[in-house]
Amino acid sequence: MLDPKFSTFSTKKAKAMDEAVNAPIARYTTLKIGGDAKRLCQPHSKDELIELVGDLNKRSEPWFVLGGGSNLLVSSQGFAGTVIRTTNLIEINNPEPDLLEAAAGARLPHLAKYAAGMGLSGLEFAVGIPGTVGGAVIMNAGAHGSCIANILESACILDAQTGSIETLSKSDLEFQYRRCRLDPARHVVVSARFRMSRGEAAEIESRTRENEDYRWRTQPIGFPNAGSTFKNPSPDKTAGYLLDQAGAKELKEGNAAVSAIHANFVINLGGASSTEVTNLLKRMQDTVMAKFEVRLHPEWKTLGSFSESEKEVWS
Ligand SMILES: Cc1cc2nc3c(=O)[nH]c(=O)nc-3n(C[C@H](O)[C@H](O)[C@H](O)COP(=O)(O)OP(=O)(O)OC[C@H]3O[C@@H](n4cnc5c(N)ncnc54)[C@H](O)[C@@H]3O)c2cc1C
Repeated sequence: MLDPKFSTFSTKKAKAMDEAVNAPIARYTTLKIGGDAKRLCQPHSKDELIELVGDLNKRSEPWFVLGGGSNLLVSSQGFAGTVIRTTNLIEINNPEPDLLEAAAGARLPHLAKYAAGMGLSGLEFAVGIPGTVGGAVIMNAGAHGSCIANILESACILDAQTGSIETLSKSDLEFQYRRCRLDPARHVVVSARFRMSRGEAAEIESRTRENEDYRWRTQPIGFPNAGSTFKNPSPDKTAGYLLDQAGAKELKEGNAAVSAIHANFVINLGGASSTEVTNLLKRMQDTVMAKFEVRLHPEWKTLGSFSESEKEVWS
């Protein structure tokens, strides 16, 4: 049954876009942690997405845009608002010979393989990043010496505060290491355009496969995780190296543990809570601070409520 509080939203549209109340969000994240969202909506078109955000904003309802949930810790207490999951928005177009346009929910591994198959180079780095185009723009996702900022030409952005939809260029977005100017609490990435370069499909596919194979060799497989936990403090001092040297691979809190394969990966051994994970992150930070006097800052985003002491870990 629909929550009566949401009855002003057209039921016909809500059904068309996949709607659920008291929806468990853990299943839509790679860490598999988190309580229920009051409401989950999964729009099937850009127009539905834009209309939904406008409608929620008008009613001052809290909302959160979820992509692949691959860079996110959801509170075990859940989220008292609407989660808008974009993964039905997967359209990819090729409006010019060297240009790819992808909707917010298109998955990076799929987009990278699609580009390689067309003889378009530039997205080889992204094949092992299990996020969506929207999340990748927000995070300036990167690997293997490249990142989204290197290929992004423009992005179509909904500003929920003003209701405007604008095409912003790469320079408008002010990309930095794992971030850009956009605030995901206000800006929704609707789609993005990537300027590619032409090459031999077989060579691009081979580079893409190499990057994919590298992932399988160097990252934990089999346990839920959310990729790198902390940002690298500097290009020559990776968080993984500092954590490894400080002995963090031994750390464990309840059902959350630091991976024995990669010290910057936290794994969910099964049924871990957001508090266990946050306590583990605090111990990882303390361990590196004690040995190197370096403060590690989490790369992940959070959703839902966290206690004041938990929030210190994320600041
Ligand atoms: C095994 C593994 C390996 C990884 N390797 C890498 C790596 O090599 N490099 C790297 O950079 N990252 C890596 N990651 C992290 C993650 O995949 C990236 O940060 C990815 O870009 C996140 O995208 P997402 O769609 O999953 O975002 P989510 O986790 O769903 O969300 C992350 C943030 O983006 C916001 N967001 C999502 N979609 C939109 C949208 N359409 N509009 C506005 N805001 C939006 C959310 O609100 C949230 O604030 C890895 C993760 C895993 C699990």
